[in-house]
Amino acid sequence: MRPSLPGWKDKILFTPGPLTTSQTVKQALLRDFGSRDHAFIELVADLRNRLLHIGQVDPETYVAVPMQGSGTFSIEAVFASTIRPGGKVLLVINGAYGERMATMCTMLGIETTKLVFPENQAPDPEAVRAALKADDTLTDMATVHCETTTGIINPVEELGALAREFGVRYFVDAMSSFGAVPLDLAAAHIDYLVSSANKCIEGVPGFGFVIARREALAATEGWARSLSLDLLAQWRGLEGNGQFRFTPPTHVLLAFYQALLELEQEGGVAGRAARYEGNYRTLIEGMARLGFTEYLQREKQGYIITSFLYPDHPNWDFNGFYDRLNARDYVIYPGKVSDADCFRIGNIGRIFTADVQALLAAIADVLVEMEIDLTA
Ligand SMILES: *Cc1c(COP(=O)(O)O)cnc(C)c1O
Repeated sequence: MRPSLPGWKDKILFTPGPLTTSQTVKQALLRDFGSRDHAFIELVADLRNRLLHIGQVDPETYVAVPMQGSGTFSIEAVFASTIRPGGKVLLVINGAYGERMATMCTMLGIETTKLVFPENQAPDPEAVRAALKADDTLTDMATVHCETTTGIINPVEELGALAREFGVRYFVDAMSSFGAVPLDLAAAHIDYLVSSANKCIEGVPGFGFVIARREALAATEGWARSLSLDLLAQWRGLEGNGQFRFTPPTHVLLAFYQALLELEQEGGVAGRAARYEGNYRTLIEGMARLGFTEYLQREKQGYIITSFLYPDHPNWDFNGFYDRLNARDYVIYPGKVSDADCFRIGNIGRIFTADVQALLAAIADVLVEMEIDLTA
C-alpha cells in the first residue's frame, strides 16, 4: 500500500529538524546536475567558502568539508578520522547528543572519559579543568554547543580555553546552533565543528559539514577507521578535483546553496539570530500565559528550542495534544530529557513570529478541546 501524502499545504515544523524551508529553497532542488559538471563543482567550492564566511573564520586557518549523510554521520566522521590511534577523548556531556558521542566512540573502539552533568545544568568548567588536569593521556575533548535535548547553551568558549591550556584537540557539535548563534571558532580554540544542512541554515536534509582547523586535519594521516567517513580523504578529494569521493546529494547541495544566499540576505548570523530570538520570546511569553512551565531556568535556555514540562492535569495526554496540533498543521516534538516528562517546541526554520502566534492560538484551542485549563 502506498502512503497517502497530503496535498500541497505543508505543515509548519516546530521541531529540531528537518525544518520548514522557504519555497525558493525547495524550488532550488528541481534541477539535475552531474556530479562532475563544472558548474556543480564551482558551486560546491563556493558553498564551502561561504560556510567559512558564516563561521567567520580565516580560510588560511580553517577548511569546510561537507559529508554525505545526516548530521550524525559528520560527527562520526570526526571521531572516526581525527582521533589518533591510542588517543583518549574527554566527553563533556549534559544530554542525549553528548551521550551519542560516547556510544560512537565505544563502537569505534576509542577510549573515553565521560564527564556527565545534569541535563538542566551547563558543564562546570572547573570540573572540566580538574578532569583534564587529572589525566595527561587525554588527547581530545568533545562537547555540544546547543544541547538540543533540552535547548541549553553550553559554554563552549570557556571549555575551548581549557582545551588550549591542556593541549587537547577540541571538537564541538554545533548542529543546532551554527548559523544562528554567533560563535567565534578561532577565539574558542575549536579544531572541529560540525553542523548540518537542515538546521539553522534552513536547507533540506542530506548532508552535514565539518569546519576543521587546517593544521589539525592535515595531521590525521592514517588515522581513519572508516572508508566512507574518512574526513581527510574527503577534504583531499574536494581540494583535488573538487568532487565528493562518492555520490554527492546534488539536489540537496543546490538547495543548500540557495539557503546560504537567503541567510546572507537576512543579515547573516545576526539577522537570523534576531528572528529566532523573536520566535523564542513570543513562544515563552505565550506559553507562560497559557500556564505552561519551561524545563530549564530562563538564563540557561537558548533560543533554538524550548522544553516544556508536561502540565500536571488529569486530562493531559501528550499524544492527544500532539495529534490535535498535527491535525491543525502544527508539528511539535516529543521530549528527550531523561529525568522529566517534557515536550519541545523549536523556534528555528523558516518560521516567523506570526507562525508562533498561530501555533499559540492553536494550542489554546486544543487545550479547550481537551478541557485543560492551566491558568485556573
Ligand atoms: C540534530 C542534532 C544532531 C543529529 O543530527 P541528525 O541530522 O539527526 O543526524 C546531533 N547533535 C545535535 C546537537 C543536534 O541538534
